[in-house]
Amino acid sequence: SIPLGYFGGVGRAAKKGILVKGATYLDSLLQVKTIVFDKTGTLTKGVFQVMDIVPYNDFTKEELLAFAVGVETYSSHPIAESIRQAYEGEIDDSIIDNYQELAGYGVSAIIDGKRVIAGNDKLLHQENISHDTCNVTGTVVHLAVNNNYAGYILIADQIKEDATFAISRLKELGIEKTVMLTGDNKVIASEIAKKLGLDSYQAELLPEDKVTALENLIHQSKEKEKVAVVGDGINDAPIIARADVGMAMGGLGSDAAIETADIVIMTDAPSKVPEAIEVARKTHHIVW
Ligand code: ADP
Ligand code: MG
Repeated sequence: SIPLGYFGGVGRAAKKGILVKGATYLDSLLQVKTIVFDKTGTLTKGVFQVMDIVPYNDFTKEELLAFAVGVETYSSHPIAESIRQAYEGEIDDSIIDNYQELAGYGVSAIIDGKRVIAGNDKLLHQENISHDTCNVTGTVVHLAVNNNYAGYILIADQIKEDATFAISRLKELGIEKTVMLTGDNKVIASEIAKKLGLDSYQAELLPEDKVTALENLIHQSKEKEKVAVVGDGINDAPIIARADVGMAMGGLGSDAAIETADIVIMTDAPSKVPEAIEVARKTHHIVW
C-alpha cells in the first residue's frame, strides 16, 4: 500500500503548479543527479523576434522576407511564427505548394513555381548550397531559392527570467550535472550555457541525436542515480519518454510532450524544477 504522505506530496506539488502524474515520480526525483534541458521554450521563452534580414545574391530584403513567410506559412514552429509576425504584406497561399516540414532542419515548399527552403546550416549543407555567413550570434534561418543562396534572417529568443536562478538552485540541491540539448546552432547554445551556468551542452542535434545523447548520459550515470529531462516541443517527446523522470512545460508545451511527461510544469517556469525536488524531499521526510 502507498503511505498517505505520498498523496500529500502530489497535492503540495499541485498547489505550486507542478502536476505529478503518480506518487512514484516523487520518489524517482529523490535519485536524480543529472537534469537535461531542451533550449527553445524550456530555458528560453520560445518567442522569437526578427532582429535582422540579410539578403544575398541580388535578392532584396522584401523578397527574402516574402519567400520566408511563404515557406513558413504552415509551420507551427516558434521560428515560423516570428517570421510571419515581421511581415506586413499579404501572402496568397494559392501559390504555395508541396509544403514539407524537415524536423531538425527547417521547411521547404514550392512558392510561385520556385523551390524554397528555409532552415539551418545542416539543411544548406544537405542541399549542397554554399554560403559564407558564420558566427552570427542568434538563431539563423537561411533561405535558398531554386538552389541559390538568398540570405538569412536573424532571430533572437530570450532566456526566461528565472532560468539562471533555477540552475543555481539545482546546484545547491546537489544536482551534479545540468545539460542543455538543442537543435539550434553552437554559437547561441554556448552563449546561453555560459549565461546560465550549465555544466555542458550539445548543439545542432536532430531529434534522434537528442535521444542518443540522453542515452549516453543515462549510461554514464551511476547505478540508482536517475536522469530527468525537461522539455516542451513536439521534438522533445522522445527524450521526455526515454528519461527516468520526464518533465514537460504545460503552457507553451506541445500536447505530445505533456502527454508523455511524468511531471507537468503548468507555469512553464524552470524554477519549478528545483521546487519539485524540494517537494519530493519534504514528502520523503513526512512519509518515512
Ligand atoms: P530546438 O527546440 O532544440 O531548437 P528543434 O528540433 O525544434 O530544436 O529545431 C531545431 C532547428 O531546426 C532549429 O533551431 C532551426 O534551426 C531548425 N528549424 C526547425 N523548424 C524550423 C522552421 N519552421 N523554420 C526554420 N528553421 C527551422
Ligand atoms: Mg524545443
